[in-house]
Amino acid sequence: MSDQGSQRRVVIIGGGFAGLFAARALRRAPVQVTLIDRAEHHLFQPLLYQCATGILSEGKIAAPLRAILRKHRNVDFILAEVTGIDAERRQVQVIRPGGERTEFGYDYLIVAVGVAQSYFGHDEFAVYAPGMKTIEDALVIRRRVFGAFEMAESATDLAERTRWLTFALVGAGPTGVELAGQIRELATKTLRTEYRHINPEDARVLLFDGGAAPLAPFGPKLSAKASAALGKLGVEQHMHSIVTGIDGTGLSVRAEDGSVTQYEAGTVLWTAGIAAPPVAAAIAQATGAKQDRAGRIEVGPDLTIPGHPEIMVTGDVMSLNKLPGVAEVAMQTGLYAGRRIRHETAGRAAKPFRYYDLGSAAYLSRGRAVVSVGKLQFAGFPGWVVWLFIHVGFLTGYRNRFGAVLSWWFAFTRDLRRERTFTTKQVGIMQDIYAEPPAPTAPGAGAEP
Ligand SMILES: Cc1cc2nc3c(=O)[nH]c(=O)nc-3n(C[C@H](O)[C@H](O)[C@H](O)COP(=O)(O)OP(=O)(O)OC[C@H]3O[C@@H](n4cnc5c(N)ncnc54)[C@H](O)[C@@H]3O)c2cc1C
Repeated sequence: MSDQGSQRRVVIIGGGFAGLFAARALRRAPVQVTLIDRAEHHLFQPLLYQCATGILSEGKIAAPLRAILRKHRNVDFILAEVTGIDAERRQVQVIRPGGERTEFGYDYLIVAVGVAQSYFGHDEFAVYAPGMKTIEDALVIRRRVFGAFEMAESATDLAERTRWLTFALVGAGPTGVELAGQIRELATKTLRTEYRHINPEDARVLLFDGGAAPLAPFGPKLSAKASAALGKLGVEQHMHSIVTGIDGTGLSVRAEDGSVTQYEAGTVLWTAGIAAPPVAAAIAQATGAKQDRAGRIEVGPDLTIPGHPEIMVTGDVMSLNKLPGVAEVAMQTGLYAGRRIRHETAGRAAKPFRYYDLGSAAYLSRGRAVVSVGKLQFAGFPGWVVWLFIHVGFLTGYRNRFGAVLSWWFAFTRDLRRERTFTTKQVGIMQDIYAEPPAPTAPGAGAEP
């Protein structure tokens, strides 16, 4: 790819919070920016669970990167997957959709690729228990959740019906807690009067976690309030529980005393762990950078990789001072990376990165959330009001904000969830539910030519 004039070239890998804020910080800077993402959109991950449970459409929580950056004349957006870098030649290696490989040269590189779901060495669980990181994941979960109620409605066998009405969630962090609350809420409110053969309120939601309490990082007080609110909603909490197996029928769980219990569940969802994507390992190998246990790249106080002042790592994939993987860290590190380049191109030195902790929030159910901001803690309705303002404030684009507020109004006042459409592929674990089951293979028969 050609260099545009004599300007320095900045390549940003990833258009999540970190990459987007870096690009915004470079608006009108005397540099040529290329933002590469394998998705065409910027995604507001904190509201994925609302897309998965039918409150918001995918268009309300995501916006095309090209549209967001249309007024940033010095920013070029490229849809491609980055596979690695050549740190000596300063080239980013990518695969375009369709498979062609190409390279982009850089003078500065900002790595903002986020993290992926980790199954703690059990990637085989992913087929049965989708995680929630992308729009695709949210749509798979939507299909599995609403599909499970449909499967239960038409089941003639009581055991099968009970299995479809059992939902298991692995991981009691914000995402697991939010999903658990939403599934109970849609069972007891939105779907309550829609079925003729099942009572959706019978749906059991089981929440498993190896720790002592849900939302433990919020501190004992808010964690206890969250646990009480979940209990009131009817979420069955199984703490100190390690999931040891997941298959098409449910999951097996080891309790604190070592006993293993098998739970039948038609839907299992995984929100437990994170791991850096493979491209992080490729970048670490090319630069000699260290990675932490989750594969995140370790950086110095100016977010650069030691020995590579031209490469900065930002957001979830960065490892620095145990900063959490939250949107606020991603935004602040992205902004810092962009501003650092601005300073350097103006001949000024940048100060080290400093994080300003603005707190964290988790939604429990209609009118209930927990929020922790410094020494201030909110739970119940006050927490929910603060949650509402934070999320409206940070959604990308005025249309999305207005649309989300309207959808919330219907969901909160009339129990309406308008975004329930799903396709029938994969409702049952791996095939189109209307497809004929595959013919049994005769013993000893060879493979088809
Ligand atoms: C379900 C969920 C709920 C959350 N809730 C909250 C919350 O309530 N509050 C909060 O503060 N935080 C929350 N978070 C965390 C927050 O969303 C992340 O911290 C934040 O998105 C990280 O931003 P990022 O830019 O580092 O990565 P991401 O937002 O993940 O963006 C990474 C980008 O890189 C792209 N990419 C990845 N690999 C490649 C590649 N090889 N080539 C090209 N492009 C690539 C991806 O397509 C993506 O666009 C939540 C996260 C999830 C998943």
